[in-house]
Amino acid sequence: MTTVSLGMPRLPAAGVPDVALPADRPATGGLVDRFGRVATDLRVSLTDRCNLRCTYCMPAEGLPTLPKDSVMTREEIVRLVGVATRDLGVRQVRFTGGEPLLRRDLVEIVRDCAALPLRPELSLTTNAVGLDSRAAALREAGLDRVNVSLDTLDPDTFATLARRPFLARTLAGIDAAAREFDLVKINAVLVRGVNLDHAAELLAWCLERGFELRFIEQMPLDADHAWDRAAMVTAAEVREQLGERFALEPDEEPRDGAPAERFVVRDAHGGRLGRVGIIASVTEPFCGDCRRTRLTAEGGVRDCLFAHTETDLLGPLRAGADDAVLADLWRTAMWGKQAGHGMDDTGSGTDLDTRPGSGFTQPARTMSAIGG
Ligand code: SAM
Ligand code: SF4
Repeated sequence: MTTVSLGMPRLPAAGVPDVALPADRPATGGLVDRFGRVATDLRVSLTDRCNLRCTYCMPAEGLPTLPKDSVMTREEIVRLVGVATRDLGVRQVRFTGGEPLLRRDLVEIVRDCAALPLRPELSLTTNAVGLDSRAAALREAGLDRVNVSLDTLDPDTFATLARRPFLARTLAGIDAAAREFDLVKINAVLVRGVNLDHAAELLAWCLERGFELRFIEQMPLDADHAWDRAAMVTAAEVREQLGERFALEPDEEPRDGAPAERFVVRDAHGGRLGRVGIIASVTEPFCGDCRRTRLTAEGGVRDCLFAHTETDLLGPLRAGADDAVLADLWRTAMWGKQAGHGMDDTGSGTDLDTRPGSGFTQPARTMSAIGG
């Protein structure tokens, strides 16, 4: 991973970079890029640590963890979220990781962000292990929504995918989330030969409980670099699997920048059962309508999950930079966002691959380290 300091390695006492920033960048306003996209949706990684080891995300032995003092503190997170909402037009903030529930001060972080003058919508993406004892406090602190990752309802398959036998703990967390929050979304990644044929059962379970399920295509962000385009489960296959049990029809509601393509789910008699979403980042990319900006746990701005560079905000913040400087650095980082992630840019026809020369290189950081 390369950290880009935008050509300003030296920070004078006030923390103000002393090297010129690109002249064509916007000096005021929101997080606009050269292609006219505006980022209003911020993902903040609160930690790189996790209590699961999902095969598509982490290696079995885990990853070296960041030193504690290089991870943003509660005050630093709230300060940067404040800059994003007040100066940069961010409207939604999602806390993620790693596993955000591993932060002891999560409730306080939520409370402080909810008290910001321009309060953003606040949500959490979690594996829900331990959520049962914290869901009520999180709602009281101001959390608006929860997304829980759940790939299967079978305990053995869960243990295979997550490399931890924690299905019951995740389900307890989901129960608590359902008691406290109006809308619970479930995220699932399907892996061929492991849980692909669990998709319809998982959807039926979610529909019965009023949860909105979203299937996410597996992306090449795993630590093991085992992602294989030929083996990954595509959105088309997910539709096919679900089609064996349900009728899916495209949702009329505008997508409005959401990563998931949504479908209304009907039973064999045409009765409406609910909705399902499919996030087809690989086979049907939505980069042209991307509205996301990301902060890593170390306070680096990433303009894309697949970016190879980051812009450090935490260093300048700790060196005394004021909010105007931090906003300027953030705007500059997003101004450089690429048109697309390049996974569909193979130069070899329509087939996707990640071989050298295919137009795509897997970032050095994994999903857990970036903040998914
Ligand atoms: N630990 C929390 C969780 O699992 O919900 C938050 C972080 S996790 C990185 C966020 C989301 O990324 C999860 O829904 C997970 O399933 C998804 N994810 C992780 N690795 C992925 C990959 N290689 N491709 C697609 N989605 C992935
Ligand atoms: Fe942990 Fe979430 Fe990655 Fe699974 S997907 S290893 S729960 S960060």
